[in-house]
Amino acid sequence: MSPSKKKKVADAVDRQWTARVGSALLERLAEGAAVGSPREPLIVEVPFTGETLGSVPLGTPDDVVVAVGVARAAQKDWAATPVGERAAILLRFHDLVIANAHEILDLIQLEGGKSRRNAFEEVLDAAITARYYAHVSAGLLRPKLRQGALPLLTTTWEYRRPKGVAAVISPWNYPFMLSIGDAIAALVAGNAVVIKPDSQTPFSVLWAAQLFAEAGLPKGVLQIVPGSGAVLGPALIDNADYLMFTGSTATGRLIAQQAAGRLIDYSMELGGKNPAIVLDDAPLGRRAAGTTLGISTVDGIAFSITSGSGQVCVSCERLYVQSGIYDTFVPALAEALKTLPIGPSLGWDVDVGSLSSAAQLEKVSAHVNDAVAKGAKVLAGGKPRPDLGPYFFEPTLLEGVTEEMDLCRAETFGPVCAVYRFDDVDEAIARVNDTEYGLNASVWSKNVGRAKQIAARIEAGTVGINDAYQATWASASPMGGFKQSGVGRRHGAPGLLRFTEAQTVAVERVVPISRLPFLDNERYAQVMSLAIKALRYIPGIK
Ligand code: NAP
Repeated sequence: MSPSKKKKVADAVDRQWTARVGSALLERLAEGAAVGSPREPLIVEVPFTGETLGSVPLGTPDDVVVAVGVARAAQKDWAATPVGERAAILLRFHDLVIANAHEILDLIQLEGGKSRRNAFEEVLDAAITARYYAHVSAGLLRPKLRQGALPLLTTTWEYRRPKGVAAVISPWNYPFMLSIGDAIAALVAGNAVVIKPDSQTPFSVLWAAQLFAEAGLPKGVLQIVPGSGAVLGPALIDNADYLMFTGSTATGRLIAQQAAGRLIDYSMELGGKNPAIVLDDAPLGRRAAGTTLGISTVDGIAFSITSGSGQVCVSCERLYVQSGIYDTFVPALAEALKTLPIGPSLGWDVDVGSLSSAAQLEKVSAHVNDAVAKGAKVLAGGKPRPDLGPYFFEPTLLEGVTEEMDLCRAETFGPVCAVYRFDDVDEAIARVNDTEYGLNASVWSKNVGRAKQIAARIEAGTVGINDAYQATWASASPMGGFKQSGVGRRHGAPGLLRFTEAQTVAVERVVPISRLPFLDNERYAQVMSLAIKALRYIPGIK
C-alpha cells in the first residue's frame, strides 16, 4: 500500500469510531438492567491493513434477554403509532443516510475492506428500501375486506398484526444493508427489532441505529447486541417472536432447528453457487466504463465476479459460455479481470477491494490451490496480493474445473469463477440447475424474449437478464433463494408481510350460517348445496 493511501486509512481510523459509535451502543445497552459489569471488548480489524479499527462491548446472553425485554416494552406504543408516522421516520432515515453517506462509506470500507463503489451499493440499498416501504406500507398493512363465507350474511376483513419483537442476525459481507435493510421492513410493520451484527462488522449497524434515533425512532424500539452468534443466537431464538437470518446454509440449518423448538417463524437468505449463461448473441460491448452506452457482457460478468471481492451472496462463481462466442468472450473477460483496479482505497479509484479476513483469504486460496493442483488452468489472477494488504486476492478465472475440485460445487465466496464451454442451451440449463443452491443467476443475450424463456427454466430466486444482480436486488420484487439458498423472501410485499401475522376477523349478520332458520339438517345441506352451486356462476365470486 502506498504511504499516502496508508495515511488516509489511518486518518479514517483515527476518527474514533469506537468513541462515536461505540458509546451509542453503551448507552443502548444501559437502557437495560443487564449492564453493570464491564464487557469483554470485541476487537474489530481493518482488513485493508490488519490494524485495529476499534472495539465494542461483547454482548452476553443476559444482554439479549434485556434487549428483547426493552424492545418488547417499547413495541406496544410503536405498534399503536399510525403507520404514516412510522413511514415518516423511514423517510427521514432515508434522507439522513444520503446526507451522511461519506461517513458510512468510510465505515463500511474500514470494517469490511470492500471498494467504495461496492460500499455505495449498501447506501443505495438502505435508501431505496426505506423509501419503498415508507411509500407502500400503509397500503400493505391496511385492513382488507375479503370475500366472506356467504355474501350478505357475513363480512370478513384481513388484518396484519406485527409479530412483536423481530430478531435480525446478519453477516459481515454487506453489514449495513443486510442488517438495517431487514430491520426497516420489520419496524414499519410495527415490530421492535433486536439486531445481532456479525462480530467482524458491528460498527455499520450501530451507525444506522444512531441515524434512526436522529430520525425520530422512539427509544428502545431498535436494539443492537454485538457478540458471537453461537453464544447470542440461542438467547435470541428463545426470546424473539420472529427471526430473520442472513448467512451460511450450515448456520441456517442449525438456527432452523432451534426455531422449530419454539415454533417461531423465520426467513433465511443463505449461500449460493451462482451461474451465468452467456449465449452466442450476447452483447459484448466495449470495456470503457463511463464512455460506452449499452450492455457489455464482459463488464457485467467481471463486475459479477469481483463485486465485494466476490463475497456477495449473489456473486457469479460458475460461467457457462456458448461455443460460438467462447474464444472471443473468455480472453476478453480474462483481460478485463487482470486490469480491474484493485487495492486499499477510501476513494472511488478502485473497483476491487480486499477479502474481509484471514479466514476468507485462507478459504479462497485453498479453493484455487486445490483446483490448480488438480489440473485447472488459470486464465486470470490466481494469487493473493500481500503487496496491497494482508487479505487481497486477485480476480481469478479458471478453466478446466472438474468435479473432484472443491470449488466446483462449494461456495468459494471470493473473486473466483470457473468457466465452462457449452453447445446446447438445454445442456447449459441442466448444468446450471445441477446444484443444491438456487439463489441468483444471469442470462446474457441480445434476444431478451429467449433469455426470459431460459430464465423460466432456471431454479433460482432471482435471474438477471444482461445484469449481474443489481436490477433484481434493487427492485420492489421479492428476493430470496430456491433449494438450500433460503426460506422466505426479503424485499417487495412479502419482505414486509413476513413480519406480520395475518388475522381474519369475520362478522355474521341476520342468521348464523351454520344453521339456517326453519331448516332441519338435511334441508340445510340441500339449500347450502344449491347456494354454493349458484355462487359458481356469479362473476367476482370464486
Ligand atoms: P455465518 O457463519 O452463517 O454467520 C452469519 C451470522 O450468523 C453472523 O452474525 C454469525 O455471528 C451468526 N452465527 C454464527 N453461528 C451462529 C449460531 N450458531 N447461531 C446464531 N447465529 C450464528 O455466515 P458467514 O460465513 O459469516 O457469511 C457468509 C455467508 O452468508 C455465505 O454463505 C453467503 O452466501 C451468505 N449470505 C447470503 C446472503 C443472501 O442474501 N442470501 C447475503 C449475504 C451472505 P458471528 O460470526 O458474529 O459469530
